[in-house]
Amino acid sequence: MAPMKRLLAVLTVAVIAGSMVVAQTPAPVPHPGIKLSLDDLHKQMFHVSAGRRLKPKTWPNNSRVAVALSFDVDNASAALARGNLNYEVISRGEYGAVDGLPRILRLLEKHKVPASFFVPAVSAALHPKMIPDILASPLKHEVGVHGWIHELLPAVNNEAEEQRLLTQAIDHLTKAIGRKPVGYRAPSWQFSQWTPGQIKAAGFLYDSSLMASDDAYEILIDGQPSGIVELPIERIVDDFPYFGGNADGSNPTPSAVLEVFQSEFDVAYEEGGLYVLTMHPHLTGHRSRVAMLDKLIQHMKSKPGVWFATHEDVARHVKGASQATEAPRH
Ligand SMILES: [Zn+2]
Repeated sequence: MAPMKRLLAVLTVAVIAGSMVVAQTPAPVPHPGIKLSLDDLHKQMFHVSAGRRLKPKTWPNNSRVAVALSFDVDNASAALARGNLNYEVISRGEYGAVDGLPRILRLLEKHKVPASFFVPAVSAALHPKMIPDILASPLKHEVGVHGWIHELLPAVNNEAEEQRLLTQAIDHLTKAIGRKPVGYRAPSWQFSQWTPGQIKAAGFLYDSSLMASDDAYEILIDGQPSGIVELPIERIVDDFPYFGGNADGSNPTPSAVLEVFQSEFDVAYEEGGLYVLTMHPHLTGHRSRVAMLDKLIQHMKSKPGVWFATHEDVARHVKGASQATEAPRH
């Protein structure tokens, strides 16, 4: 074939191949919601939503505010789940087991404050001393479920596979703590469409992955009461956006974070509410940040009527006091 003819033939094939690719790949729909009916949008909006507000008239011991400190013991599990074997990342996670968790446990001991620890089962299996260390405290810290390997459930995107991972995680933690865990927190706080049904079927007392209110509430699944207590979290009261993720330790001063955490507590105190704080041993377990947490707890303890409790204790209290709640909102 002459060079010009050969070139034309190649170009023709390329154009045909290109058009085939275009024909096979549907155009991206940036706003699928604009095509949906209100009925469809209602179903999507309220597949998982906020039901009864579970705000008790009083907290135990006539306290004014409930403080539930939580630590997600991710360490390197999220990196391993994604196959990220960059040892800068892995060792940063390892720090959580080596120095972060022990330092946090010492601080909680110093202040005599209990906390809840949400542990991916793989994280516990790779550092098997962590759970015995947590449970050795006389403060009766709680251990809850945080996935098998910090899998991102929407990315798993498979109902049976998600169920397998949840069952494995519950079985592993049940053996490690000597009883069935009652609390669930989704890895990265992300549910799939199947998560609410699976954690309900597993019999969890509470979840702590959603953020539709400052107060505890009952989760509705497709508009129906689930019986699961939600203890809401928030990115504002989470160390990750400040010290992890894109920030990656670049936040120059923990005192700026302390200011946010403390202001959130002060308003919760004024309103007689619930204050849930999420932290990670591999992030907050560092020296300057435990010093910040020390100051925060000191500030809380300087006020009368602060009830420090595990998530389990808070969930049991608000569920028991649910007759003092308002009507469903949907
Ligand atoms: Zn996590």
